[in-house]
Amino acid sequence: MKVFNKAFTQQEAIPEEGILAAIEVMRSGRLHRYNTLPDEKSETDLLEIEFAEYQGVPYCLACSSGGYALHVAMRAAGVQAGDKVLCNAFTLAPVPGSIHNSGAVPVLVDVADDYCIDLDDLEAKAASSGAQYFMLSHMRGHLADMDRIMAICDQYGLFLIEDCAHTMGASWKGKKSGTFGDVACFSAQTYKHVNSGEGGFLTTRHGEVMARAIMYSGSYMLYERHFAAPAKETFQQIRFDTPNYSGRMDNLRAAILRPQIARLDAQCERWNRRYSVIEAVLRQSATIVVPKRPEAETFVGSSIQFSLPSFSASQMLDVVKRCGERGVVLKWFGDAEPKDYTSRYDSWRYIEDMPKLPNTEQVLATLLDMRIPLTFSEEDCVLISEIIVAVVSECES
Ligand SMILES: *Cc1c(COP(=O)(O)O)cnc(C)c1O
Repeated sequence: MKVFNKAFTQQEAIPEEGILAAIEVMRSGRLHRYNTLPDEKSETDLLEIEFAEYQGVPYCLACSSGGYALHVAMRAAGVQAGDKVLCNAFTLAPVPGSIHNSGAVPVLVDVADDYCIDLDDLEAKAASSGAQYFMLSHMRGHLADMDRIMAICDQYGLFLIEDCAHTMGASWKGKKSGTFGDVACFSAQTYKHVNSGEGGFLTTRHGEVMARAIMYSGSYMLYERHFAAPAKETFQQIRFDTPNYSGRMDNLRAAILRPQIARLDAQCERWNRRYSVIEAVLRQSATIVVPKRPEAETFVGSSIQFSLPSFSASQMLDVVKRCGERGVVLKWFGDAEPKDYTSRYDSWRYIEDMPKLPNTEQVLATLLDMRIPLTFSEEDCVLISEIIVAVVSECES
């Protein structure tokens, strides 16, 4: 029996230049982003400039987490208590959580067979709910048809916030994920595409939205010390009516992130090589369905999802258990019981008037998910996927 014995939670080391830069910051004692010498740009300032450049957008704010960025995005967009916000039912808990944190009410939209948001359900709920905001989670790196998404946003006048926690480095028809909507949010938490333990980014092309986001993030009246930011006139009124929701990035984290942004594209290629190795082996099984991804999508294969459409709930549990016994860690999104990082929409019971979403439950009932850490070699990926294929075949009967 084949067994795999590396940890699915093991990340790569922080690049050496990042470690050296972090030591430099610690030696200086100036860890706070606004603790700069005259005319000096802090590591956090430079990180914002570099990530704005990477995304090709004018404004970027680095902050304490991806979930914080999502919350501040809601606030900066002008969401008021009780407002409705369209959002994927298939996503992770910080997404509806950030909507709730702004006092708004999530309107959950179904998932489609390709694991993207269901565009027909989106259109129907955009029409029926009266929502003016849409938080689109590019969940597990799957980009929905962005042309149609934008057409729906235009038609219903939706303010679009993209949750790019799993699509940092991805694009649709060559246009970067996070540059379609009004605001985009990214995470630098350990299990995402860059790793500072905790951290996040908010980007936008709207000056006023960025001015508010900067004030919310805890800039006090030091907003002029932001460089990937609008001119100081933009803050003239905003500085009086925007509360401080303290959630800044610090120079230590920024120092370890900067070299990771510089090598992000190369890392994405390494993920994709691993992804294609796994995908090719899984496709050899007639039982396993890996949905074909659209030509227009350039994704980052930092995780893989596949379905076992003919399997019952007990077979799904059996696959997860037996794979686990052989060192292969799979997550089942269909479990009624929330576990680890994974929770099905109906476990977010704080959402008022929670709809029943039978289509979503049906898709999630046979959906499995696996992380692909870069510490795995391509040979590891062959072994892992062979184990999955073998286990699926054992559980088949
Ligand atoms: C991780 C994650 C977030 C939130 O990021 P944190 O930095 O952990 O707050 C938001 N959305 C999705 C889909 C995520 O996976």
